[in-house]
Amino acid sequence: MYTDHQILRIPGPTPIPPSIQRAMTQPMIGHRSQDMKDLLHGVKDKLKPIFGTNEDVLIYTASGTAALETAVVNAVQPGDEVIVIVSGAFGDRFTKICEEYHIKVHKYDVNWGEAADPEQLTQYLKSIPTVKAVFATYCETSTGVLNPIKQLAKVVHQESEALFIVDGVSCIGGTETKMDKWGLDIVVTGSQKAMMLPAGLAFVAASKRAWKVIEKNSHPRFYLDMRRYRDKLQEDASPFTPAVSLLLGLKQALQLIEEEGLSTVFQRHHLMAKMTRDAFHALDIPLLTTDMDASPTVTAVKPNDFSSEDLRRELRSKFGLTIAGGQQHLKGNIFRIGHMGYCSPADVLQIISLVEVGLQSIDKTIELGTGVKAAQTAYLDI
Ligand SMILES: *Cc1c(COP(=O)(O)O)cnc(C)c1O
Repeated sequence: MYTDHQILRIPGPTPIPPSIQRAMTQPMIGHRSQDMKDLLHGVKDKLKPIFGTNEDVLIYTASGTAALETAVVNAVQPGDEVIVIVSGAFGDRFTKICEEYHIKVHKYDVNWGEAADPEQLTQYLKSIPTVKAVFATYCETSTGVLNPIKQLAKVVHQESEALFIVDGVSCIGGTETKMDKWGLDIVVTGSQKAMMLPAGLAFVAASKRAWKVIEKNSHPRFYLDMRRYRDKLQEDASPFTPAVSLLLGLKQALQLIEEEGLSTVFQRHHLMAKMTRDAFHALDIPLLTTDMDASPTVTAVKPNDFSSEDLRRELRSKFGLTIAGGQQHLKGNIFRIGHMGYCSPADVLQIISLVEVGLQSIDKTIELGTGVKAAQTAYLDI
């Protein structure tokens, strides 16, 4: 096998479609040129349906974590009390960012692998109704859970005046998001997951309610100040030099999404998750989350009679297939398969087939083809 033949199936960064790769190699353009204005004008409206909003989606040159920090520094200030729903490593990251800024965090801890419960959040909010914001992770990448964001939003607005702030980094573009309709106040994502781009762009959208808070917030911020990005975007410009090549790629990514159709993109992700999960069910290998709580973009597998690390090593050395391990206390205990962005049912059949070979090689006895057949059946059943 040639060393450049790599199959990347981690929950970000994800593979880049060839047409996006080509778009990013176009010659550089000036960041204050008419070409750049046209580029931003073209992408800004096409981002909105992906978030399910009529508000502007701001574009930052930064990784996803900067988008989380942007939400924090713009929406709250030191001394404010907030609730952070922690259902895994990324909920934990929101907590750390808030604490770094001396924001008083009340953690709603959810068992890793389970989804946040709107009922429990209701009780939480009743005990601390004065919180300024509630932070949640839409797809908790570390566990493969898709939190019930719509229902959580409802509870937040019923029980409080808090803003509801959502980290959608590993699922926006791969799962339905109706920011305006569901009452999400700030939604953020990054470029290297379901958006099919390299890391380097972060996207942030805010509701009208959130903008009122952001406008008045005196908390110091400069590069991350959402007001600058909003004002410039209204003129089809950016406050600082943007990642021009990534924006050229973004234009093509949005083109691909438009051609496939957003709802078809979402259905494809749903199908890929079902194929993956059915395969492991058929192989009798436990998954970390229930089918009901599962994310369409990433699946976490929790084997009980073989080593995740052995399997990962085997797949990587034999086939150049990279899958992810666990984070924090799940390290070594789970493996995660990313099926988002530039990934199709055909890729899932390949992954499952390779996993089966890998399992045999590490002496986990299975009947070859069991998982593949289940995935094929899931595909044919739609
Ligand atoms: C990947 C990820 C992030 C962090 O993004 P970086 O680009 O690594 O900074 C944040 N939240 C979630 C849910 C993620 O999956």
